[in-house]
Amino acid sequence: MGKLSASILSADLADLADQVKLVEPYADLIHIDVMDGRFAPPLTIGPVVVASVRRHTARTLHAHLMVEAPEALFDELAETGVDLVTFHMEAVADPEPVIRKARGAGMRVGVALSPETPIETVFAHLGDVDDVLVMTTRPGKAESFMPESLPRVRALRTELERRGLDADLEVDGGVRLDDARRCVEAGANVLVAASAIFGAEDVAGAARDLKAIAEAA
Ligand code: ZN
Repeated sequence: MGKLSASILSADLADLADQVKLVEPYADLIHIDVMDGRFAPPLTIGPVVVASVRRHTARTLHAHLMVEAPEALFDELAETGVDLVTFHMEAVADPEPVIRKARGAGMRVGVALSPETPIETVFAHLGDVDDVLVMTTRPGKAESFMPESLPRVRALRTELERRGLDADLEVDGGVRLDDARRCVEAGANVLVAASAIFGAEDVAGAARDLKAIAEAA
């Protein structure tokens, strides 16, 4: 069964606790974009905000690190209660020790791919991760969903199946209702949604509709 991940970067951060409560019935994960302003602008949320989200939800907290040297944040994030941490393939020279360090800190671990990065770069690591995240916009850009991501999702799903691996396959970036359907058809089983949820007039209703699509996965 597919999962919905609500990305709080688009939420009203001054009202975070209430926003999280609104989506909680439908969101399996709360997705937190951590950006350092260098790997991807702007500077966003760090461990302090993660800790305050943790106090308001029992849902899986997923930190998506769009930062250089992601491993430097692992211990602090694990302490604040992050369950799953994802770092970018483009941000590290060798993913293997980074994956080990995340596990050593007590978190599940995933890898993310920016749109320009060939998907084959993660193939060697698919057996070592819990989660693969395909960016469907460029990191840090408020762009619309890139349909050229769909064949990338499809190829990753094919590779996971061929090897009998059960890592989650996520799409993240500009995903709206119609894109969500196409992503699920292509093989994604986790939908990250930001403005499609928190930009909607009816935040809970938008989350419910996206969750229904995710469940078809
Ligand atoms: Zn993200």
